[in-house]
Amino acid sequence: MIFEPESECLEREAMRDLQGRRLRALVAYVDQRVTHYRDALAASGVRASEIRGVDDITRLPITRKSDLRDHYPFGLLAVARRELRRVHASSGTTGKPTVVAYTADDLELFARVNARALAMGGAEPGMMLHNAYGYGLFTGGLGLHAGGERLGLNVVPVSGGMTERQLTLIEDFRPEVICCTPSYALTLASELQKRGVAPDAISLRYSLHGAEPWTDGMRAQIDAALGVRSTNIYGLSEIIGPGVSNECVEARDGSHIMEDHFYPEILDPETSEPVPEGGEGVLVLTTLTKQALPLLRYWTGDITSLTREPCPCGRTLARMRLIKGRTDDMLIIRGVNVYPSQVESVLARLPALAPHYRLVVSREEMLDEIEVHAEVTTEWLAASDARSDDGSVALGHASARELCGRIVSLLRETIGVSMRVQLLGPGQAPRSEGGKLNRVLDRRPAR
Ligand code: ADP
Ligand code: ZN
Repeated sequence: MIFEPESECLEREAMRDLQGRRLRALVAYVDQRVTHYRDALAASGVRASEIRGVDDITRLPITRKSDLRDHYPFGLLAVARRELRRVHASSGTTGKPTVVAYTADDLELFARVNARALAMGGAEPGMMLHNAYGYGLFTGGLGLHAGGERLGLNVVPVSGGMTERQLTLIEDFRPEVICCTPSYALTLASELQKRGVAPDAISLRYSLHGAEPWTDGMRAQIDAALGVRSTNIYGLSEIIGPGVSNECVEARDGSHIMEDHFYPEILDPETSEPVPEGGEGVLVLTTLTKQALPLLRYWTGDITSLTREPCPCGRTLARMRLIKGRTDDMLIIRGVNVYPSQVESVLARLPALAPHYRLVVSREEMLDEIEVHAEVTTEWLAASDARSDDGSVALGHASARELCGRIVSLLRETIGVSMRVQLLGPGQAPRSEGGKLNRVLDRRPAR
C-alpha cells in the first residue's frame, strides 16, 4: 500500500513546483532565524528573495558536518529551546556525535516518513513490527517506532542486543515485519539456524535494513535465512533519522526518496558541482520542511546515484541506488579508490564464503594496503578437509590455498587492485551485537 499517495505519486512537474515553493520559504526562514545561514548566504552573495525554484538551489551554500560540530550542540537551531520536544545524536561513527533536535511538527514528520518507509517495505496496518533498531539517542529505534504506530502496526520495542531474547520473541509473538541493521539481521539469522529453526517456521515476511552499507549479496543471504523480502531503508540524523528513503518491495530497485521533504542532489566529490543526471557522486540533501534544524544542501558524504524513471510500484518519488560507501570510508589502494562494499560484493559471489569479513588496512611505505579476512562457511570447511584442531582454517592446506587464490584473482579482476587475502574459520569474523558493525580495522598510523 502507499501511505500518502497524494505526495508519493505526484506528477513530476507538480513535485518540482512544490519543492520550489518550499525551498523559497526555507531560505527565507533560515535567513531570518539562523545566524550561520544569514552569514553564509551573505558570503555567497545570495538574497533569499532571489530564490525562485529548485534550479536556484545550486546557488546556495553547502552545509557540512563540521558546521554542525562548530555550532555544537544547539547553535544551528532555528527555534527557541522551549519549542523543542526531543533531541537525538548521530552514532558518531566518524567522530564526535552531532546533536539534532525536533519540534512537535518535526516529530510528526519523522513519524510520517517512517510510516511511508514501512509501507514501501511491505508493512500493512494490523501487522506486528519487531523493532530491533537501538532505542536511545540513536534515531533508528524511536524513528521506526513512531512510523510503525502511525501506519497502524503493533510495534514491539525490542531494541538491539540480547539476541536470545529476540529469537524467543520472534518465535512466540509471530511478527510479520522486522527492522534492524543488515549486519544484525545476519546475526539473528545464524542464531536461528543454530536453534534449528527453519526460515519458513517463523512468521516474518518483510524486513527493513539500513544505518550501514550493505549489498545485494548480503540481501540474498538475509532473504533466504529469515524467509523475508527485505528492503533498504536510508537516513541520517542530521536530516531526520531513518525514513529519508526506502525501497519499494515491488521493485527493490533503488530507494524512493521522500523528496517532497528532503530535496536530493548528487554532487561531484571533488568539485562539489552537480553531476549529470544518473551519475554517481555525493548525496546532498536539503530539508524542505523541518523547523528546528533546517539544513541547506547537507553534504552526507554518502556515495550513490539517482534515477527519476517511473517505478512499477506507482510512486513517482526519485530513487537512489544502494550506498556504495561514505567518502570517508574510501580507501585509496595504489591509486585505485576502493570502498569496503565493493569487496563485500566480490566475496558474496563465492559460495564457499560466509557473508562475514573484515578488512585490515595498514600502511607500508606511504602506501595503503588492504588485507581481506574472509570467513569460510562450515560446509566448505567440512568438505575441504582444511580444518585445523582449533576450528580455524589450515592455511597451508591445498584447498585453502586454492580458495585464497580464487578470491585474490576475483578481487583483482573486479576492483582492479591486488589485495592479500586470509581465510577465517566459521564465527571468526566480527558480528553485529545489535547496532552498526565496523568491518574495517584501521592499523594506519594517525596522520
Ligand atoms: P553516523 O554518521 O554517526 O553513523 P547516523 O547514525 O545518523 O550517524 O548514520 C547515518 C549514516 O549511516 C549515513 O550517512 C550513511 O553513511 C549510513 N547509512 C544509513 N542508512 C544506510 C543505508 N541504508 N545504506 C548505507 N548506509 C547507510
Ligand atoms: Zn517503487
